[in-house]
Amino acid sequence: MPTFAEELDKLREEGLYRSMRVISGAQGSHVELEGRRVLMLCSNNYLGLADHQALRSAAVMGVAFGVGSGASRLVSGTMELHARLEERIARFKGTERALVFNSGYAANTGIISALVGRGDAIFSDKLNHASIVDGALLSRANFHRFGHRDVAALERLLEEKGGSGRRLIVTDGVFSMDGDIAPLKEMARLARRYDALLMVDDAHGTGVLGATGRGTAELLGVMDDIDIHMGTLGKGLGSFGAYAAASETICDYLVNKARSFIFSTSMPPAVLAPSIAALDLVDSAEGKGLRDRLAANVALFKERLAGAGFDTMGSETQIVPIFVGPADATMRFSQELLEEGIFLQGIRPPTVPAGSCRLRCTIMATHEAADLEAAADTIAHVGKKLGVI
Ligand SMILES: *Cc1c(COP(=O)(O)O)cnc(C)c1O
Repeated sequence: MPTFAEELDKLREEGLYRSMRVISGAQGSHVELEGRRVLMLCSNNYLGLADHQALRSAAVMGVAFGVGSGASRLVSGTMELHARLEERIARFKGTERALVFNSGYAANTGIISALVGRGDAIFSDKLNHASIVDGALLSRANFHRFGHRDVAALERLLEEKGGSGRRLIVTDGVFSMDGDIAPLKEMARLARRYDALLMVDDAHGTGVLGATGRGTAELLGVMDDIDIHMGTLGKGLGSFGAYAAASETICDYLVNKARSFIFSTSMPPAVLAPSIAALDLVDSAEGKGLRDRLAANVALFKERLAGAGFDTMGSETQIVPIFVGPADATMRFSQELLEEGIFLQGIRPPTVPAGSCRLRCTIMATHEAADLEAAADTIAHVGKKLGVI
C-alpha cells in the first residue's frame, strides 16, 4: 500500500498536485496575491458583489442578531433572518417556498439523497458538478449518466431504466467548467412525459442570466417547469450558502428528510443578511446595469480570444474556458500568466476529464474593458509561445 506521501509525490509527477494561493484584502476585479496586484480572472464573483458596500453593511446589520446561531434549524437555530431570506428567495424564484442550506455542496447532497433512494433512478448529465454526483452516490438510487446535453440519450435512458420507483432528472443550469447551458426546455418536456422530477443546479446562472437575473430557467423561458431550483448564494450573489426553491410539499419533505439540512448548525445571521441585500441588488436598476456590463465584457473578451485562435469550448456564458489539453502545459500556461499579472487557474482531472485540461476564465461585471483587452492579448502572446495556438 503506498503511503500518503508517496501518493502526493505521484500527483506531483503527473502534474496533478494542487495547493492554495492566499489573497490579501478583499475579493475584487483585481486582488493582492502573494504581495502583487493581479487581475482576477478566476473568481465566481461575477457581479462583483462579494465586496459591495450594500452587502458589507448588511453583514454588519446581521451582527445585531449576534454571531452564532447556536443550533440546527429544527432544534432552535431558526432565526428571523432565515425566514426572511427564505421568503426572499421564494419570491425571487416564483416558488411557493424556499429553504436555505449551508453550501451548494450540502444542498445537492442533502436534496438528492432525500428525494430518491434505493430502487429509484437518477438521470444526470455526465458533466454535472461533483456535489450532484456525491448526492447521487449517497442516495443509493440507480445512477444513470447521459452524454453531455444529449437529450436523445436521456430519453433512451428514461425509457429503458426508468423502473417503477421515483425518477429524478438533475442537471447544472450552466456547466461550471465549460460555460455552456443545459437544454432545459427539452429536459422539462421529457420530465413531464416520463413522470420524472426535474432539478436544476443554477450555481452559475443565479443573479446573472435571464432578463431579471433569475437564472438559466428564466433565460430559457422555463421557470415554472422546474420542480427543484437549486442555486448558490456564494457566487454571483457574492455572499455564502445555497438554497432549494420548490413547492411547499417538496420543501416540507426536505425539512423532514434532508440530512445536511437537519444535522448541521444553521447559517449565522451575518451571512444571511448580505444574501437578502444581494437579491435586492439583483432586482434593482444597479443589478440590471451589472448584468449588462457583464454581458458586454463577456462579448468583448470572447471576440478577442476567438480572434487569436483559441478554442473556448462552446461557452455561452461568463465562464470562458481556453482548451489546452495536457495537465503540465495547462499549469505552465497559468504560471506564465501569473508572472504577467493575470490570475487564471488551470483546471485538471478529476475536475475535468483527462486530456481536456483548460484555463477557466471567468469574467466579472466590474472588470474594465481595457483590462480585459490587455489580458486577452497577453493570453494570446503566452499561448503562442507555448504552442497552444
Ligand atoms: C460551486 C458549485 C456548487 C457548490 O456550491 P458551494 O456553495 O460552493 O458549496 C454546486 N454546484 C455547482 C454547479 C457549482 O458550481
